[in-house]
Amino acid sequence: MNSEGRPTAPSQTTGISPARTFTANRALQQEEGLLFEIGRHDVTGVDLEEPAAFVPRLGGLERAGAIGLPGLSEPEAMRHYVRLSQKNYGIDSGLFPLGSCTMKHNPRLNEKMARLPGFADIHPLQPQSTVPGALALMEMLSHWLIEMTGMNAVALSPKAGAHGELCGMMAIKAALAARGEHERQVVLVPDSAHGTNPATAALIGFSVRSVPAGADGMVRADAVKAALDGDVAAIMLTNPNTCGLFEAEIVAIAAAVHEAGAYFYCDGANFNAIVGKARPGDLGVDAMHINLHKTFSTPHGGGGPGAGPVVLSAALAPFAPAPYLLRDGRGLRLVEDTARDGDHAPFGRLTAFHGQMGMYVRALSYMLSHGANGMKQASEDAVLNANYIRAGLSDLLTQPFGDQPCMHEVLFDDAWLKGTGLTTLDIAKALIDEGYHPMTIYFPLVAHGAMLIEPTESESKLSLDLFIATMRDLALAVRAGEKERFLSAPRLSPRRRLDETRAARQPVLRWKPRAPLPRDTD
Ligand SMILES: *Cc1c(COP(=O)(O)O)cnc(C)c1O
Repeated sequence: MNSEGRPTAPSQTTGISPARTFTANRALQQEEGLLFEIGRHDVTGVDLEEPAAFVPRLGGLERAGAIGLPGLSEPEAMRHYVRLSQKNYGIDSGLFPLGSCTMKHNPRLNEKMARLPGFADIHPLQPQSTVPGALALMEMLSHWLIEMTGMNAVALSPKAGAHGELCGMMAIKAALAARGEHERQVVLVPDSAHGTNPATAALIGFSVRSVPAGADGMVRADAVKAALDGDVAAIMLTNPNTCGLFEAEIVAIAAAVHEAGAYFYCDGANFNAIVGKARPGDLGVDAMHINLHKTFSTPHGGGGPGAGPVVLSAALAPFAPAPYLLRDGRGLRLVEDTARDGDHAPFGRLTAFHGQMGMYVRALSYMLSHGANGMKQASEDAVLNANYIRAGLSDLLTQPFGDQPCMHEVLFDDAWLKGTGLTTLDIAKALIDEGYHPMTIYFPLVAHGAMLIEPTESESKLSLDLFIATMRDLALAVRAGEKERFLSAPRLSPRRRLDETRAARQPVLRWKPRAPLPRDTD
């Protein structure tokens, strides 16, 4: 796109240039302008009757001129949105190897359940007495989450993983305040952490102290002990970590953290690797968010809102935010009040209403349809699939921490590209030409030029074999010195390589007409 939002012609600076067409369409892929570019002012999709004469009562604030909305006929509007939808690549289009994101299939059964009128049509302001089924569903989901993680309580309302981190860390802050330990202002975060971890800690006023990863990509208990002192409030540790490795010293780390009077927040985004295999509560975790949109198959990416419930240990359970579920002599209810009440001392509330009800339904539908054994198998298959890719590529690509088994995702670095003049970005762009969404690149930061691949359990052997063969073809082309294929990639996408830095630094967010719009004449 140029600064006016118009498509620019494909770059001709590279050796291999794709065929140009008169229409800018490519095969059956349609070029699509903005509504403002394709609409006209003399066209409308509906015929509205002239309004009867009336006296405006807007106190002189009524519109003085045309606002220039473009008109489209119904078929034009239809085509516009269908064409846009076809430009979207999603998990329903093909393998989506985006590491750390667990892009698994979203079972249609979940969608069917979420659309049951009894769930889909309820309103957050309805009296609780009219929605006992929804409350029972939230209780059942809580039960499964607590059982699977071996924890004591769950706060359901956070709306994403990062929001869950905020929730868990605010519970830790409240617990420390209740202990009168306001001097604990430091949060330990390993080098390999997701950026949301230090951001969360900083957002609520903690300072971040980083803990280096060992040569094998794991955090050492000794390194944590060296960083612990009376100022430390908590550690935020991801397990399995972002290198796709299970933190082998996690139990010793938890013990050291507790001994120092601090809490253990676990980033549970990678829970898909260990469901049914290991329970965070048994490992010494005090709080962990669960991305329902990763582990429990609710849609994400452009496809839907997330949900990030946080499971809590006995020490943190009292501080869970409102609303919280309570079953007592009065039955099952959601407590909206943030005042201290018996064992409950909520730190406040995080969301306007009760969280992502539609995601609760989808996640519980996934759990009930898989059962405990099915979810355990899903985790085993996710790990197997990642290792199948690792084994299929390890002779051509390089792994930063040696050729060791991984959990649910496999991490490669760019050592294999040394001296080729190509970078991780070039490989990612070439994958687009092959019809794949790229893997996660340049994350985690502890691996140079990281390529993080997570196939999930939903991919068949056939699909994995094709992906491996594609990656092998790319790697062999790199070896054969076919530099242009990579530097000019993507060659076959509607847009070529964009100036991503400029787009981020100087985003053009507003379309401006090239010529003044004609005023409405009537
Ligand atoms: C996805 C992810 C998060 C953030 O979760 P969101 O739901 O995207 O907010 C945090 N940590 C890790 C390791 C993740 O992969």
